[in-house]
Amino acid sequence: MLDTRLIVGSLHLFALGVGLGGLWSRARALHDSVRRSGEPRALGRAYIGNAWWSAALLLWLITGVWWLGNGAENLTGIYGIDAGFVLKMGFFAAVVAFEAWPTTKMAQWRLSGAAPKARELRRVEAISYVQCALVIGIVVAAASRSEARAVAGAAASLIKTARTPTTPEREATGEVAPITPSGTTTVTPSDLALLTQEIAMPLPGIDPDSLRSSFNAPRAGGLRRHEALDIMAPRSTPILSAAKGRVLKLFTSVAGGLMVYAADSSERFILMYAHLDHYASGIRDGMRLERGDSIGYVGSTGNASATAPHLHFAILRSADVRRWSKGTAIDPLPLLRDATARVRP
Ligand SMILES: [Zn+2]
Repeated sequence: MLDTRLIVGSLHLFALGVGLGGLWSRARALHDSVRRSGEPRALGRAYIGNAWWSAALLLWLITGVWWLGNGAENLTGIYGIDAGFVLKMGFFAAVVAFEAWPTTKMAQWRLSGAAPKARELRRVEAISYVQCALVIGIVVAAASRSEARAVAGAAASLIKTARTPTTPEREATGEVAPITPSGTTTVTPSDLALLTQEIAMPLPGIDPDSLRSSFNAPRAGGLRRHEALDIMAPRSTPILSAAKGRVLKLFTSVAGGLMVYAADSSERFILMYAHLDHYASGIRDGMRLERGDSIGYVGSTGNASATAPHLHFAILRSADVRRWSKGTAIDPLPLLRDATARVRP
């Protein structure tokens, strides 16, 4: 079965290819039009190239917005944004901003019917080359990111369903078979009870009773809440997996720096660890975790102050852990207090 993500992702990449072709042919046709002045067919070709480029830009925008809206980028809040995304969107904004003048000018030429000035032709040509470079920049920025991978991943899963993976295969790679997604992000009392059974302090030796909750602390001038627990600790303090489960994603975000997203063993929850100084050696996506396994070391990567290394620890109720940063945030501190009280003699 074809999934929507594969279709939209493919269309998005297709639009990119068509758009680049249209943009380039617009530039080349304008070049010819200036060189062989008054050659009406060159200008006609420029209009055709422009039409392809405009249509592709529109398709690109629509599929891109769908992509964002459907969480395929895993952009849930500020921690889901990495440098590649910022770069990509910056380039895209520049492409669109540069397009305002050529679009206006070309529409004017067509409507007036008069021969455009050579100076203006050259200017649209030059802008088109700059846009081509920016589009290539977007491709480079995106190559390390989700579209390419998501399309490849969706295609791979199509092939995979055809040859159902066997248990020994999973065992050999140390991966955990995913559990059927729960489909809800609503937090129930039984969720909290389960979490209390499952989790432990990610930084050993720290008494959760000594910590203050910063879950509801305002961030970004009150635009969002912190929705996590900050645990101050010296740089390079080992961070232990708070629960049994598996690594979902090792991610580098602008705000969170080096991060680990992990699922608990029920795969109803996502445990998120941010600002790591470095990862534990050998840690990788999909890897099985036991509670207490070392996953990394406290640091100040991302937007943490270099003088205040800490672990930013969050718990999310997830509908589907394949969307590894999406879910309802749960205050970790009361759970950690209950969990610690439970094991205390
Ligand atoms: Zn924090």
